[in-house]
Amino acid sequence: MKNYAEIAIPCPLRNTFDYTIPENMTLQPGMRVKVSFGRRTVTGMVISTKTDTLLTCDIKSILERLDNSPLLSPDLMQLCIWASQYYQHPIGDVLLGTLPARLRQGKTLNISTSKQSITNIAPPVQQLHLHQEQQIALDTIVQHLDAFTPFLLHGVTGSGKTEVYFQVIDQVILKQKQVLFLIPEISLSPQTIQRFHKRFSLPIYAMHSGLTDKERLTAWAYAQTGEAAIIIGTRSSIFTPFKNLGLIVIDEEHDPSFKQHEGFRYSARNLAIKRAHALNIPIILGSATPSIESYKNALAKKYYLLELTQRAGNAIIPDFKLIAMPLKTLENGFVPETVHTIRQHLSKQEQVLIFINRRGYAPAWFCQSCQWQADCTRCDSHMVLHKTLRRLMCHHCGHQTPMPTTCPKCQSSSLLALGEGTQRIAETLTVLFPETPIFRIDRDNVKNKGQLEEQLDNIHLHTSAILVGTQMLAKGHHFPNVTLVVILGIDNGLMSNDFNALERTAQLILQVAGRAGRADKAGKVLLQTLQPEHPQLQTLTQQPYGIFLQNLLKERQQFHLPPFAFMALFRAEAKQMEKASEALCMIQALLKKSDSEKKVTTYDPIPAPMQRKAGFYHMQLLIQASNRQQLQKLLSKTLPSLAGNKTLQGARWTVDVDPIDLF
Ligand code: ADP
Ligand code: ZN
Ligand code: ZN
Repeated sequence: MKNYAEIAIPCPLRNTFDYTIPENMTLQPGMRVKVSFGRRTVTGMVISTKTDTLLTCDIKSILERLDNSPLLSPDLMQLCIWASQYYQHPIGDVLLGTLPARLRQGKTLNISTSKQSITNIAPPVQQLHLHQEQQIALDTIVQHLDAFTPFLLHGVTGSGKTEVYFQVIDQVILKQKQVLFLIPEISLSPQTIQRFHKRFSLPIYAMHSGLTDKERLTAWAYAQTGEAAIIIGTRSSIFTPFKNLGLIVIDEEHDPSFKQHEGFRYSARNLAIKRAHALNIPIILGSATPSIESYKNALAKKYYLLELTQRAGNAIIPDFKLIAMPLKTLENGFVPETVHTIRQHLSKQEQVLIFINRRGYAPAWFCQSCQWQADCTRCDSHMVLHKTLRRLMCHHCGHQTPMPTTCPKCQSSSLLALGEGTQRIAETLTVLFPETPIFRIDRDNVKNKGQLEEQLDNIHLHTSAILVGTQMLAKGHHFPNVTLVVILGIDNGLMSNDFNALERTAQLILQVAGRAGRADKAGKVLLQTLQPEHPQLQTLTQQPYGIFLQNLLKERQQFHLPPFAFMALFRAEAKQMEKASEALCMIQALLKKSDSEKKVTTYDPIPAPMQRKAGFYHMQLLIQASNRQQLQKLLSKTLPSLAGNKTLQGARWTVDVDPIDLF
């Protein structure tokens, strides 16, 4: 007799709840039910059924069963339970929070069949003839389609990774299995989806934040029934149910957006590996600039390393040149050599891409008489000048003020914009190259994917042109006529306290550089820097990326940093600094008390890199171990006693396992 059900309920508590099963109801794990919880009626999910319970009194009965068959398969239930434990996030939130909104709200799954299926679709057409490295990659992967095999496909930009994915997908579809293709959360999804539609006459569904609830539900349901052959989605689509999943691909696997930054702080890449393992299927992690974790796994032979070192077709890998910037501020942000080279490329009717990862006109509005500078009143940060709007803006909290024309402190009118953002660079270039069309691509100028596509179309219509942009320009786009890429303002990334910053900056540099010379014209990259002698910058720009990563790995090992150490970061925020600090001191004391084996290093609470943000004080507490299990053990031992308390000592607190932003 199975009389009780263990139910997960979305709430801040980490535990599950037992209910009695009414006489004539049969339940299976993965079904949704209605139960009363406190004074509310809520939708919960069955984790298990059992014959006894530790509860002694007042056990409520399940009110209603919402599904006739499990909504989530056993493997997906397992994945969610594992993720809840690993990332220390309430199980109810994980199981129900990752469902499409309508299902989360307890509505029934009622989707008519699409009358499509993988079987009655014609086999693919128009395969490209692969170059040798692509062929080796394809052959290797195809030999391992029937078992869990992780591949790291490291292919330089333009090497034709996509064609390898496509031909692997052909083989998976031939076996009548489904494919999950994960992409970063960026504007490139329309282009990617178009590319899939062009290539495959198959039912393909996208899953990203731009969908309506109904569209998301449809894609989810067709994946579950097996009517969708390919799901292309951002990180949360790792929780999609599949009837018969045969392959997971993570494109741009290094991208930080595969880690969720708030609430349930999971890594979709990590979960994808888990899922592929549980389903015994292959998984391909692809990137021109693999993450250091994945590369370490490849070197340790945990992942199969497949390398594409040459560009496909006639394209050639661009040439890098580091250009020293003088220490005194440049008048217009450009070294004369850079301007000269831009002029050369424009005169050949070619396009130039200028990358600077800062929006606005200038990052500082400064008084030359008294040194006053415009600061955000709510954050520890400077205001950014947006000259056309005549406003100052804080890029951290969104706070805005009109741009003062006299110094609020000494009334002097000698105010000066210091440094450069995209707007100022575009303005400077208009003066230097009055005849050349200039396109600015950043979040202020391009607000949605329609506008982005319109701009990209416009760019393709011109011969010579200048593109100025932020990282919006860095990823995925093809600019066949861009032969020169100029990279500005990366020195902060080279000097940051966060050990992750160098890897991120390196990836960004190579991704941006990859926009040069993608067709049959050779490309050139100029990088203006204060530190042309920086050893890692030199390795990055003169040698294969693998060498750069191997050097970085040595350094990380020497300093016991990830991926040679495992970390969790507690964060606390409050209106008063003391409260945030007290909350973390309390957590620290609990951790130290639980850590009987003394295998985990617990550091002292310190102020967050931006201590005051949007009016709140932020503190953080880092713990670190040389082994994942030890860290997990301590967290699992300590956190239940804090469960349900979103605030401690008046401060909001969170925990982030495997954090990717530290300082
Ligand atoms: P990546 O994703 O590795 O940066 P893409 O897959 O976007 O590179 O490929 C770059 C370009 O090379 C695309 O225009 C693609 O059609 C082309 N391409 C890929 N493989 C081949 C091939 N074997 N022969 C000719 N062109 C190819
Ligand atoms: Zn002043
Ligand atoms: Zn602010």
